[in-house]
Amino acid sequence: MYDYIIIGAGSAGCVLANRLSADPDAKVLLLEAGPRDSHPFIHMPAGLAKLVHNRRVNWNYHTAPEPALDGRTLWWPRGKVLGGSSSINAMCYTRGVPGDYDEWAASGATGWDWDSVLPWFRRSERNTRGGGALHGDAGPLYVSDLRHSNPLSHAFIEAGRQAGFAVNDDFNGPRQEGFGLYQVTQKNGARCSSAVAYLDPVRERRNLTIVTGAQVNRITFRKGRADGVIYTTKGRAYHEPVAREVLLSGGALNSPQLLMLSGIGPAMQLRRHGIDVVVDAPQVGENLQDHLDICTLRHCPQPITYDRLSDARIAFDYYLRGRTGIGTSNIAEAGGFVRSRFAPDERPDIQLHFVPAMLDDHGRHRLPGDGYTVHACFLRPRSRGRVRLMSGHAGDQVRIEANYLSDEEGFDLKMMVECAKLSRELLAQPAFDAYRGAPIFPARDDLDDDDLVAFIRAKAETIYHPVGTCRMGSDALSVVDPQLRVRGVEGLRVVDASVMPTLIGGNTNAPTMMIAERASELTRAG
Ligand SMILES: Cc1cc2nc3c(=O)[nH]c(=O)nc-3n(C[C@H](O)[C@H](O)[C@H](O)COP(=O)(O)OP(=O)(O)OC[C@H]3O[C@@H](n4cnc5c(N)ncnc54)[C@H](O)[C@@H]3O)c2cc1C
Repeated sequence: MYDYIIIGAGSAGCVLANRLSADPDAKVLLLEAGPRDSHPFIHMPAGLAKLVHNRRVNWNYHTAPEPALDGRTLWWPRGKVLGGSSSINAMCYTRGVPGDYDEWAASGATGWDWDSVLPWFRRSERNTRGGGALHGDAGPLYVSDLRHSNPLSHAFIEAGRQAGFAVNDDFNGPRQEGFGLYQVTQKNGARCSSAVAYLDPVRERRNLTIVTGAQVNRITFRKGRADGVIYTTKGRAYHEPVAREVLLSGGALNSPQLLMLSGIGPAMQLRRHGIDVVVDAPQVGENLQDHLDICTLRHCPQPITYDRLSDARIAFDYYLRGRTGIGTSNIAEAGGFVRSRFAPDERPDIQLHFVPAMLDDHGRHRLPGDGYTVHACFLRPRSRGRVRLMSGHAGDQVRIEANYLSDEEGFDLKMMVECAKLSRELLAQPAFDAYRGAPIFPARDDLDDDDLVAFIRAKAETIYHPVGTCRMGSDALSVVDPQLRVRGVEGLRVVDASVMPTLIGGNTNAPTMMIAERASELTRAG
């Protein structure tokens, strides 16, 4: 019998599989709904532009119509493959700031303050610049400088400087604020997903079994304890028993879904779908938070963008020339963190990603010519959404109500307007004089606040950071306790982005892996 069953081989699940199977006496089963990570565009960083649209490796979610976004349904890609979303993401390595974690601890996530989590970030990291008080140099996750960057990315950093902001070569250093190139989760010019970092080195362990194409339908319980999982692979269903624990790492959408399908969730909702209630847990699926993002696009009069590149040529160059050149670009090469005039504390509250290509509708809508894109998002949204069941079947998608821009004070919308204005200000700097073509989105440079509100409602999209749907806390209503144990049952933890009480100020991959590093110790301690 397996000691541990891990559901989902994503950013968190691969970390758990590695750390728990390091004990040769522990038998570990890792179940992943998606396929192996063999697609070459997973490993060539610039392949992400194409990969994200590949249905074989993507759950391809859509939100319900968003009331504050003109009733639009937004596309939410999520990885469905070994490595999960870390196999299709943009590889930007950021952690947020200490205050984010101190806020977690203050909200009831006891023991998750910055001083407590930093060692786990360092444990996972192998920064190719070397280690230090804030960085690790011996972990499995390679964090590297980009091998290739576009002149426009450097113009963006210079524009930030001209607009009065600092230049910053380490967003995870003593100070997050400023403009610079992102460090990326790459090893020798190739993507370093959680599967590459944590599974590849230990695949031969005899006490670790990895099954792909295995969709878990339900966790089973006996006398209030998780005693196994039911999963389907190749058309056959199996009931796999567990000796010690089930660890649920399905991500911010699938983890609450699977809890609910297993009888843990809001009782009324479960009964409506014919599910027997194991624990009435009204907050499962609630507290959904995401970074809403507004893109400003302009034409570029010089043919130096990534718009016209042929994928075949990039791949040819990349593999023939030893993983150099444009194939190594994560596309969102440069960025910045800014503290706006509305920031309530010392933390930067706007993040920017610069893309030297026209990225309309996640790149799904190709535009003619050359251009570039500034992404801007508000880092600490006050709006809260939820995930609900559409049916009692694991194969069906969940209903996602992101509820963007729904906070009563209208603060999130005010901040999104600030984001759009900042992007415009940056592109107006002299650094862009040689590259400034006609505006695309918005179509004019002189929009007032009301016009910008309409623009945001019509065009804002996700920047892919949903969290919070299995909230960690010390109060009785929180879904998991600070040891990540699901309240009301034994032998079951949730370990992934869903446990974050609030969004951190940055990208969410590294924090998710940190959570899993720490969870592996909590699990081993029993
Ligand atoms: C397009 C995109 C770009 C992004 N860019 C960045 C970036 O540049 N930097 C950054 O830090 N973050 C980025 N992110 C966010 C980051 O990748 C995620 O926050 C992180 O990967 C979440 O990790 P997770 O373990 O919670 O979930 P995931 O990594 O999504 O893993 C969940 C896994 O569980 C599997 N699973 C789900 N349900 C079941 C089931 N029932 N049975 C079996 N298996 C199941 C899934 O297939 C998946 O493999 C991006 C995300 C996306 C989608």
